[in-house]
Amino acid sequence: MPKLREIRPNLWIYEIAAPSFVARAVVVKGGERAVVWDTMSLPSEAAPLAEAIAGMPYYAVYSHGDWDHAWGTSGLGFGRLGVIAHEECRRRFGDDLPRQLQRLQIAEAGKWESVRLIPPNITFTSRMRLDLGGLTLDLHYVPGHTIDSIVGWIPEWGVLLGGDAIETPLPVVNSAHLLAGWLGALQSWRNLESLERSIASHGSMDGRESLDQTVDYLQALSGDRQFKLPRKLKDFYRETHQKNLIVVDGGLSLHE
Ligand SMILES: [Zn+2]
Repeated sequence: MPKLREIRPNLWIYEIAAPSFVARAVVVKGGERAVVWDTMSLPSEAAPLAEAIAGMPYYAVYSHGDWDHAWGTSGLGFGRLGVIAHEECRRRFGDDLPRQLQRLQIAEAGKWESVRLIPPNITFTSRMRLDLGGLTLDLHYVPGHTIDSIVGWIPEWGVLLGGDAIETPLPVVNSAHLLAGWLGALQSWRNLESLERSIASHGSMDGRESLDQTVDYLQALSGDRQFKLPRKLKDFYRETHQKNLIVVDGGLSLHE
């Protein structure tokens, strides 16, 4: 069952458990505007987010365009000011994402018919600041997991929204050539003392744990390979780890 809960005043977490991982969206409310950070896979999954928005004008922000993050937007309802994402995300909505939706509609008949892909209509290339009314959401480009990945920083709360740029027990690495820049960006975030909590779209959301673990993992992947992984990994993450090693060792780039 989906869970919507307020983890601090005006910060809501919404989770859906899939067999291999938990997917998480976030609602951030300022004094005048709200942000829905990711819209899940299906319109029906996004619909309960309206409860947290509670009629406030809002932006939908995509951490990146992948199916489990940005495909439920049409279920959000009225009051949307715009859809914000990285410029590369807009490109993907005219490229690989429609093709992937078509593939899924064939492979899983009945499940994906309700999806209407809604591309971002407000994009940025490096950074963007959103004034929510007494509260700020700074969007930063952190390519790595995908070419269009971003993170969101709420300075007033010390909260980092990580999308899939951070993930426990380990992230999905799709490109060898983006690894160094990705790791460097996350190391900078880790050095920020005012950062109290990192909220990834999958995996742990305790304190800074997801950020710390992702940095440790990417460091090991690009260096000495001394991984500090839990002894028991779910099949999905065991396979992902093996794929990550192949991508990096082969200098590969998937999904671009
Ligand atoms: Zn994801």
